[in-house]
Amino acid sequence: MALLVKKFGGTSVGDIKKIKNIASSICQSKEVGNEIVVVVSAMGQTTDDLNHLAESISKSPNRRELDMLLSTGEQVTIALLSMALNEYGIPAISMTGSQVGIITESIHGKARILDIKTERIQNYINQGFVVVVAGFQGTTLSHTGSMEITTLGRGGSDTSAVALATALGAETCEIYTDVPGVLTTDPRIVPNAKLLDEISCEEMLELASVGASVLHPRAVEIARNYGIKLCVKSSQSDSSGTLLESQIQPIPLKRGSLELTKTVNSLEVLENQAIFSLSNIPDRPGIAAQIFEKLSEASINVDLIIQSTNDGNNNDITFTVSELEVNKTAEQCELITSQLGGEYNLKTNMTKLSIQGAGIMGRPSVSADLFDTLSQANINVRLIATSEIKVSCVIEINNIPKAIRFVAEKFKLSDTQIFVNPINEKQDQPEVRGIALDKNQVQVSFRKLPDRPGVAASICLALAENNLLFDTIVQSERISSSKTKDISFTMNRQDREKANLVFEALIKNFPGSYIEDGPAIAKVSTVGAGMAFKVGTAGKIFRALADQNINIEMIATSEIRTSCIVLEKDCDKAVNAIHNHFELEK
Ligand code: ADP
Ligand code: ASP
Ligand code: MG
Repeated sequence: MALLVKKFGGTSVGDIKKIKNIASSICQSKEVGNEIVVVVSAMGQTTDDLNHLAESISKSPNRRELDMLLSTGEQVTIALLSMALNEYGIPAISMTGSQVGIITESIHGKARILDIKTERIQNYINQGFVVVVAGFQGTTLSHTGSMEITTLGRGGSDTSAVALATALGAETCEIYTDVPGVLTTDPRIVPNAKLLDEISCEEMLELASVGASVLHPRAVEIARNYGIKLCVKSSQSDSSGTLLESQIQPIPLKRGSLELTKTVNSLEVLENQAIFSLSNIPDRPGIAAQIFEKLSEASINVDLIIQSTNDGNNNDITFTVSELEVNKTAEQCELITSQLGGEYNLKTNMTKLSIQGAGIMGRPSVSADLFDTLSQANINVRLIATSEIKVSCVIEINNIPKAIRFVAEKFKLSDTQIFVNPINEKQDQPEVRGIALDKNQVQVSFRKLPDRPGVAASICLALAENNLLFDTIVQSERISSSKTKDISFTMNRQDREKANLVFEALIKNFPGSYIEDGPAIAKVSTVGAGMAFKVGTAGKIFRALADQNINIEMIATSEIRTSCIVLEKDCDKAVNAIHNHFELEK
């Protein structure tokens, strides 16, 4: 007898007919002998509607009251689905997050799950009930010692389901939704997006956190940490859907910290790197494509790529390569600058240092801690690249022993968690698995910051302390006599307004520096675990955009992701262009 957790999203329970259909499919699964826990979302657009009701009363409603309101959406669905199951003769009982004992942090609006008290739900399962649980909600003990309803953040029912599967030791967690599974991209943007039979948790984490709403990233994080079998399927058809694959060794579940596992699991050091910076090159569609095509023609494998926001009509593009390829790369850079103008600059004896862990996601304090630790060791960070589960920076090689010591101590890493020049085994993975689009971002630049240790750290710390999420931090490597540099990043639209006070206080520390808001943008992220091992992937992505005359405002990469910031008006065209270029529909 298998215990299955099945989650049905808002569109799948959007009306009574759909609820009855789901009840009937649950009946079939129950009749073949499975034990079933169902997690449901609010019906259709209910959560949006409830949010609008709150907004019509207050611009910033009390967070406790908002959670009280939003949690009612799921409560409607659990009762109706239980009634429908009863009509089919199946014993079913509905339970709210509090009744199940889903204990969360005391943060309204985006609480993480600490523990699930499974005794009561397990009792019902043992008695043969189908238990129907309200997703997206939990309960906390407030400082006064009384229970408070919390919610997990938009899309959080996926996280409720995977957390329940973990706590109950379920065989599988099935996420049923309105598409056949995880596709190469959002089918609302690219209608012929293709179903993926499988995807690695790392790739899904990246896609989910940069706009692929099909799975809540925290659900992927839990599945990956505890080795839960997770699949995404259609609630309307019998297709087998997409299976998520995890390459890491699962960790044992510790009561009280279900979602609060260690943030950083490893430190990776890659020696013998060189940084090439092209400055004052023209800012127009096609330039990035030309540059990276030139490099791939010479079989140069580029690692990190960073293009900051443009300065007037000129741009800087910085990238790293292995030191073995320095001569070849320099020749190509000569060629590029003779054709396009601008100049290049080379720094050898560089090392890439990266911290990694699924818990980095959604916690801006982790990158801030890394930069702060390095600045306390008086180490200047030359280049920064962030992804959802990894933060990398490039520093000078002679700083490495000190950096390892400081970083390992800060994040409590043992020798077995430190990898120097690791050999990666993901070489046979596809260079592009999928593309995600995030329209909910704005772009901000700090201009003319002093170039000294601690500057990036102080900005990141200030944002993190105020719980403002930032992403795609890029730091320019401009050749300038004034010893200044720019740092640009993207952040959530909603957080930008809240950031004003923080920014004003920050900029006072840097005389001569100023803040610049970018135009309306969107972030197009291309993800693939094999990207790091194929020569020319970036060039192809940039070519796809150039052929559509789309200008790239900013570029930031991690090993498995290349994100391009483009003007919002171009974003759907950009996703289609990359999808076609890599023939993902095939
Ligand atoms: P649910 O209500 O079931 O939780 P969501 O709306 O949260 O559903 O997520 C499903 C939607 O995610 C799909 O309708 C699709 O438009 C969107 N989506 C975005 N990226 C992808 C992708 N890569 N694969 C599948 N769906 C995606
Ligand atoms: N109903 C919540 C939302 O719309 C949670 C979910 O559907 O996952 O965000
Ligand atoms: Mg969802």
